[in-house]
Amino acid sequence: MVKAVVGANWGDEGKGKITDMMAAKADIVVRFQGGANAGHTIVNNYGKFALHTLPSGVFYDHVTNIIGNGVALNIPILMNEIKSIEEKGVPAPHILVSDRVQIVMPYHILFDQYEEERLGKASFGSTKSGIAPFYSDKYAKIGYQLQELFDEDLLKEKVKRTCDQKNVLLEHLYHKPLLNEEDLLATLHEYRDMISPYVCDTSAFLWNALKEGKTVLLEGQLGTLKDPDHGIYPMVTSSSTLAPYGCIGAGIPAQELKQVITVCKAYSSAVGAGAFVSEIFGDEADELRRRGGDGGEFGATTGRPRRMGWFDCVASKYGCRMQGTTDVAFTVVDVLGYLDEIPVCVGYEIDGEVTTDFPVTSKLEKAKPVLKTLPGWKCDIRGIKKYEDLPENCRKYIEFIEKEIGFPITMISNGPSRDDIIYR
Ligand code: GDP
Repeated sequence: MVKAVVGANWGDEGKGKITDMMAAKADIVVRFQGGANAGHTIVNNYGKFALHTLPSGVFYDHVTNIIGNGVALNIPILMNEIKSIEEKGVPAPHILVSDRVQIVMPYHILFDQYEEERLGKASFGSTKSGIAPFYSDKYAKIGYQLQELFDEDLLKEKVKRTCDQKNVLLEHLYHKPLLNEEDLLATLHEYRDMISPYVCDTSAFLWNALKEGKTVLLEGQLGTLKDPDHGIYPMVTSSSTLAPYGCIGAGIPAQELKQVITVCKAYSSAVGAGAFVSEIFGDEADELRRRGGDGGEFGATTGRPRRMGWFDCVASKYGCRMQGTTDVAFTVVDVLGYLDEIPVCVGYEIDGEVTTDFPVTSKLEKAKPVLKTLPGWKCDIRGIKKYEDLPENCRKYIEFIEKEIGFPITMISNGPSRDDIIYR
C-alpha cells in the first residue's frame, strides 16, 4: 500500500518530521519531485539534520530510500548528504536512484543565478539551485536522463549540442563565460562514477515490492500552494507538489495510493515572493519567527528568514482538497503557547466580497484577510501524549480549524522529535 506525506501550504510545514516518524513503519520511502532547493529538518537520536535530496527514511536500517524519476537530481549534493549523515554516525543508508531521473547540471545552477540577476527586482526569489532551468530543459527534451550517462557515444554528441545551444544564451543574453565541451563531458563522467552503485529500474522495484505487500511512503517537498498548476503561479516551484503526482514521479500505479497525510502547520510561514494573505510584520512576526519551528523559522537550505503569518483556513482548506487528503497532521502547535489570543484567517475579502474559496493569483493579490481571534492556552504543551490532556483552548483551536478546513486532523505534533506526537 502507498501513503503520501505532503504539504498543504507553502512548504516548511514539518513534513520531514512526520515522514521520519512514519518511516518507522514503512518499507520504502520515495522522493518524487523537486530537488535540493528545499530542505527537511529532522531531529532524532542521531542529532539534527537538514536533508535536501535524501528521502527521510535514511535513518532506518529497514527502509529502502528511493530517488524517483520525478526528482531534479543534483549528484554531488546527494553524495555530500550521504557522507554527512554517515559522519554523524548514521549507518550507511539503503539508496536506489531511478535510471529515468534527470540530472541537475552545473549550468542549470548558473542559469538560475544569471536569470535572477537579470530580472533584478522582478526576480522569483529562487534558491538558485537550478531547479527552474532543470525542469525547463526536461520538458524542452534537452535534459540528461540518468541512463544516458552510460552511453558514451550519445553523451559526447549530446554534450556538443548542449554547449552549442547554451553558449548562445551565455554570450548574448547573460554575457557570461561559455561552456566547454571537454569540461562538461569530464563532469558527467565524474557524475556517472559517483552514482553508478545506486542506479536501478526503481519502478520495477516498487512494483515488485507492492506485489509483496510492502508499504511505500511518498515524501513530498514544499506544498500545494507551490504547485505549478494549482499554486500561486508564477511564484511556484517547477514540479508538482501534489500527492497524485507522487505516483508519476515514483513510477507506481495511481490506484495504489490509499492514504494522503497532508501536513498543516499551526501558523503560516512562506519563503520567496508571492501573495501571502495572512502575513504579519514587525515585532509580532519577529517573535513568531524566533519561537517558530525548532530554533526559529529560517530556511533549511538558504538560512533566509521566513515570512510569517497566522493560520490561513482558506489556503489550507484548498491545500488539503487538492492533495486528496485523508488525514491532516497538524504541526508545531506547541509554539503558539505564548500567545494570549491567536488570530486565524477565516476568509478573504476581495473587492468588497468575502470568500472562503482560494482564488487565482490576480485575485489573490487583492485579498485582505478576514480574521477571527481565538483565546490562547498560555502554557507549554510539549510532552503531552493524549488529546484529552491538551488544554481546553488548545483543543478548541484545533477543532475550530478542523471544521473550517473540512478534513480530519488525526495527528497533532507538539515538538520537533519523533515522539512528540498525539494521535486522535
Ligand atoms: P518540512 O520542509 O515540511 O519538513 O519543514 P521544515 O524542515 O521546515 O520543518 C519545520 C521545522 O519545525 C523544523 O525545524 C522541525 O524540526 C520543526 N518541527 C516539526 N514539527 C514540530 C513541532 O511539532 N513543534 C516544533 N516546535 N517544531 C517542529
